[in-house]
Parts: sequence; structure tokens; C-alpha cells
Amino acid sequence: MATDSNGWGARGPRAGRPSADVEVLVAGAGPVGAVAATALARAGVSVMLVEAGADCHEDLRASTFHPPTLEMLDSLDLLAPLLDQGLKAPVYQYRVRATGDVLAFDLSELADITPYPFRLQCEQWKLARLATARLGDRVRFARRVVYFAQDADGVTVHLEAPTEIEEVRARYLVAADGANSLIRKWLDVPFEGFTYPEKFLTLSTEWPLEAHFAELALVNYISDPEWWHVLLRVPSVWRVLVAADDGVPDEELLSDTTRARVFDRLIGHPEVETRHRTIYRVHQRVAARFDHGRVLLIGDAAHLNNPLGGLGMNSGIHDAMNLAEKLVAILKEGADAEVLLPRFGRQRRAVTQSFIQEQTKRNKAMIEASEAARRSVFSEMAEVLRNPDRRRAYMHRQAMFASLEEAAAIA
Ligand SMILES: Cc1cc2nc3c(=O)[nH]c(=O)nc-3n(C[C@H](O)[C@H](O)[C@H](O)COP(=O)(O)OP(=O)(O)OC[C@H]3O[C@@H](n4cnc5c(N)ncnc54)[C@H](O)[C@@H]3O)c2cc1C
Repeated sequence: MATDSNGWGARGPRAGRPSADVEVLVAGAGPVGAVAATALARAGVSVMLVEAGADCHEDLRASTFHPPTLEMLDSLDLLAPLLDQGLKAPVYQYRVRATGDVLAFDLSELADITPYPFRLQCEQWKLARLATARLGDRVRFARRVVYFAQDADGVTVHLEAPTEIEEVRARYLVAADGANSLIRKWLDVPFEGFTYPEKFLTLSTEWPLEAHFAELALVNYISDPEWWHVLLRVPSVWRVLVAADDGVPDEELLSDTTRARVFDRLIGHPEVETRHRTIYRVHQRVAARFDHGRVLLIGDAAHLNNPLGGLGMNSGIHDAMNLAEKLVAILKEGADAEVLLPRFGRQRRAVTQSFIQEQTKRNKAMIEASEAARRSVFSEMAEVLRNPDRRRAYMHRQAMFASLEEAAAIA
């Protein structure tokens, strides 16, 4: 049977015979799966990336890339085109709604340890689209993983295609299939943690919010016990993130009435046009184990956290790079999978727990703190900002350098 560069049969699958045979099958072409597949392909691994959707979703979730993630994307030659499509944000601010106080942290101070001392503000789908375009015929859209079975030599994966079920054989299956990961569910691994009672509402607008706030940065966390919000700039729009009462139906949250209430409160101007309005359920959950023999969980399939601090996608990309390095060593250099894959799981799960989960919970507690608690947290933060060593250590940790160092130190 004739095959293309991926080993796909020119006449499609046959009963009992896989339609493709690859070293690694990556499920899910979000930013995490797309980066994992790119890192593997560049190292000469035969990889297939399958995506349930007909394209990479153009959603407005992650928009902040931290400096070490930018270094990783650079190593894959994905950074230059992304820089062209995003905004450099060296400064991020914590603001107090009631007093107007501003604490501004400037990542330019880390220029001695990174070539990218800024956050890149850029929509996550731009990365997924860029990486999948580069991967060419290694990507199969409209292919949903519906079932898999692993044995001593590999994993047999069943994909739902538009008109049939296809079967693919791979030595390893990487699950980057997002928060509702079917692969995680089949593994029956506990997904421990909790779901926040409130919903998160994001609205985007072309309205120039910078005209209403003095010296607004591109990334701003505005704390208030009753109405905290986040203002984030991406190239085309401002994004406003607010919490919304779980008791209010989604249609009402997405209505013009809610939109008018949000902008009236924000800038005293209710009639602001929006480009997107989206509601999210937000969770703090971590899978009990990331490595399951030949099936490996990364990104949102493995862990979820609130978006305050912009850590979810970034940590997923860090999972992808950690795992890809180990799979390359196993597949190309004969390294011991039974040593390296559990190490991947230990390293990434440990920092997910110790840093990503803890930091995002702290960020939420800070932004919604009562006035008394906020006073104490902000006076401590002001101390950090005044002291050059503490300020540098704080930014080093927030920028995720520390979590990568912690992970690398785990055997
Ligand atoms: C409001 C909001 C703002 C956020 N902001 C940030 C931020 O600034 N910075 C940050 O780091 N993180 C942020 N996050 C988190 C970030 O969006 C996620 O962590 C990130 O999208 C995870 O990427 P992923 O590739 O693991 O999963 P996803 O992006 O969810 O991609 C999973 C992909 O898998 C596909 N798929 C699902 N099931 C299957 C299947 N069975 N077979 C094949 N394909 C399948 C899906 O169609 C999808 O394309 C934010 C989240 C929210 C809600």
C-alpha cells in the first residue's frame, strides 16, 4: 500500500490494520500539543498531531507568554513570527481600585538573565496556528481520539474521522486534549482539586481603555473585594476579565445589560462595543499522575488553574518541552523509558503543585481580598518593590524561571 510522509495508507484504514504507524501520536492541537509535536518533529521523531476540530480554535483564553516560554519557542524557531503578531509588555501592574495605588514591576530588570525580559501579549491560537502550519501533513484535523489501548510495545489509538473510525499505532500517546481530556478519563486517574463557585466573564473591546487610567500597563490586576478585574491588552483589543455570580444565567451574563453594567463601572461609559463575550468555569485541579506507561498527560489535560498570573498555558508548554526532550532521548538515543517518563511526571507534577497551583490561588486571594487583608498584602508587596533583591527574586519567580529550576533539580 502506498504511504505518504506520515505512513498513512493512500486508501485509508482497513479492518484490523492501522492506517498509520508513528513513534508518537499527540492528541490535541492547542498551544501545548502543537509545541510538543513541533519539538518532537524537529528532533526527527515521526509524529502525528490529531485535532478534533476542523482548525485550531480561535479562542481568547491565554494571552500572556512568560520569558522562559519565549526562550523555548525561540529554540523551536516559533518566536520571531509570534513577536511580530504580539505586544511586548515589560511592565505589569497591581492596582487598588479604591485608592488608585499602583505597584508596577518591570521585567527589563531581568535583561541579564534572559534575552526576552518582557511578557508577550499575544493570543494563544496564533501559536497553535503557526506551529500546525509548519507541521504540514503531520497534522490531521477533524480527528478525535475516542479510544486507545496500550500494550508492551505501543498504543493503538482509535480516531473518529468524518466518515469512519481510523486506527493508528504509536509507540507513545501524548494527551494534550485539554481540560475535558477523554484520554485522562479513560485512564481513570483522579483529577483532584475544586471548581470555583463563580464564573469568569471576559469581554473584549477596541475602546481605548488607556485613555481612562493614568499610565495603564498592558497587563493590570485591579484588586477590590467586591469588584476585582483584570485588564489585558492584545494587539487588536483590550480584554476585561471579571468574576460573575454563578446564580446568574449565562444568557444574562452575555447580554447587553451586563456589558453596559461592566463598562459603566469600569470607565463610567456603558455604551462600549465589544468584540467577544465569553464565560468560563474555572478549576484548580491536578491529575494524580502525569505518566501512565506509554500514555503521557500534558497541559490542561493534566492540570487546571485560574487565569490570574497567566500560568496555565505557559506551564503546559513547559510540560511539552520537558516531555519532548525525554521522548527524543528514549526514541533516538536508546535512553531508558522506565527511568525518564516517571521523572517527567515527577518533575512537572511537583512544580504544578508547589508553584502553579499555590501561586494562582494566592493571586486570586490577593485580588479579591477584604480591605484589611489587602492593606497588609499591598504594604508587603510595596516592600518587595522597594528592595532590589526581593524585587528581583519576586519577578524571577513570577516569570516562572524558579519553577523550571525546581523541576530540573528533581531526580
Ligand atoms: C480566561 C482565560 C484566560 C487565560 N489566560 C492565560 C494566560 O494569559 N496565560 C496562560 O499561560 N494561560 C492562560 N489561560 C489558560 C490557557 O488557556 C490553557 O492553559 C491552555 O489553553 C491549555 O492549552 P492546551 O493545549 O493544554 O489545551 P487546549 O487549548 O484546551 O487545547 C486542547 C485541544 O485538544 C482538542 N481536543 C480535545 N479533545 C480531543 C480529542 N479527544 N481528540 C483530539 N483532539 C482533542 C481540542 O479541540 C483543543 O484544540 C487562560 C484561561 C482562561 C479561561
